[in-house]
Amino acid sequence: MKYFIITIGCQMNKADSERIAGYLEKYGYRPAKNELQADLVVVTTCGVRQSAEDRVYGLIPRIKKENPRAKIILTGCLSLREDVQKRLKNYVDIWLPITELSGLIKKLRVMRSALRKNDYLNIVPKYNSKITAFVPIGNGCNNFCTYCVVPYARGREVYRPAGEIIKEVKNLVKNGYKEIILIAQNVNSYVSKPKIVYFPELLKAVNDIPGDFWVRFATSHPKDMSGELIKTISKCDKVCRHIHLPAQAGDNEILRRMNRKYSIEHYLELIKKIKKSMPDASITTDIIVGFPGETKKQFNNTAKLFKKVKFDMAYIAQYSPRPGTVSAKMEDNVLRAEKKRREEELMKILRQTALENNKKYIGKVVEILIEGKNKKGELWGKTRTEKMVKVESRKGKENLIGKFIKVKINNVKDFGLEGELVN
Ligand code: SAH
Ligand code: SF4
Repeated sequence: MKYFIITIGCQMNKADSERIAGYLEKYGYRPAKNELQADLVVVTTCGVRQSAEDRVYGLIPRIKKENPRAKIILTGCLSLREDVQKRLKNYVDIWLPITELSGLIKKLRVMRSALRKNDYLNIVPKYNSKITAFVPIGNGCNNFCTYCVVPYARGREVYRPAGEIIKEVKNLVKNGYKEIILIAQNVNSYVSKPKIVYFPELLKAVNDIPGDFWVRFATSHPKDMSGELIKTISKCDKVCRHIHLPAQAGDNEILRRMNRKYSIEHYLELIKKIKKSMPDASITTDIIVGFPGETKKQFNNTAKLFKKVKFDMAYIAQYSPRPGTVSAKMEDNVLRAEKKRREEELMKILRQTALENNKKYIGKVVEILIEGKNKKGELWGKTRTEKMVKVESRKGKENLIGKFIKVKINNVKDFGLEGELVN
């Protein structure tokens, strides 16, 4: 029996898909080359934005038509949505909320599962990369930002015991992984039980695992980001100098209506602390433009935030109402064209600040982790600050993929650096 997995959406979904692959292989399934050759097609869906949801409506009927014998499993954000179940009922064979993964084989009537529900994070994944591994430290969210579907789609926060996470990371490092990415919807509310361990301690424990590797993490919620965490990051040599801190908006009234539970003053205070303790760190964010009722003046406060913080990268989303959320009951009254205009205005500022920030790298030697080769045969990798670097290829035949190397930066763009190998 062969399986094929299609993943849409965030890093958490990618990590879930790796667990699904690990689970299926444990029960004798093997990967298929594509969805047409598979007996089982798993679609890990995303419902965070309308555009991600729309992809699923095109994809699933197409697969069922082209490969009618395949069983289709729909997991991820859309698996619990009744309207989606109704719409795709003729195409999907199994609706699988990810926490029920351990019971999938039972559903497939191949064999009985011995695993308990909610233990899905214990399932040994099949990692997609040999260099980078996503390690979920928890699942779910308790925050209920008014626009967001995640608390409904993934349920309340559940965290993995620290010992289990450390064991997984040790094993990955032993197997040669060079980049460990700890993920959860809100890493700062991580707490391990029965022995209480909070996120800064967990991060330090992962940092202290012997070996040659880097640690990244996402996502931090500004309301829960502590001075202690900032201090811990600055003291941990393996933890990358990159902080992803989603602001979502730059206006206090919009933040209040988003139920984000912090003010823009608090956000700026955090940025100040980060810049003070790690002047070389890069800072990235998530932003929503066109939240219901967002006026031009309120949007201008977000533009001001961009100018003040000078982000290195921002994931800017045009607001779309998500069924079942609080804001879906508000009037989605910012016109599409205006949302687009706001997105473009922020992109323009972002390109300038990112380019300005990158200019500081010119002439500097930085360490990068080589992740691959592009079509032209040029190597590419990332710095600790998560800057993408293209490395001039040289005659050397040595395989550098998966290695840490030193590169001298000689050219910079807004979203990337270019350099040459240093001996
Ligand atoms: N836990 C993370 C975000 C997870 S969702 C956090 O708290 O920041 C990923 C991103 O999708 C969000 O940061 C937000 O910018 C975007 N997003 C979520 N719901 C959205 C919606 N209804 N419309 C547009 N963008 C949305
Ligand atoms: Fe969604 Fe807010 Fe939870 Fe992030 S913190 S997943 S935006 S509800």
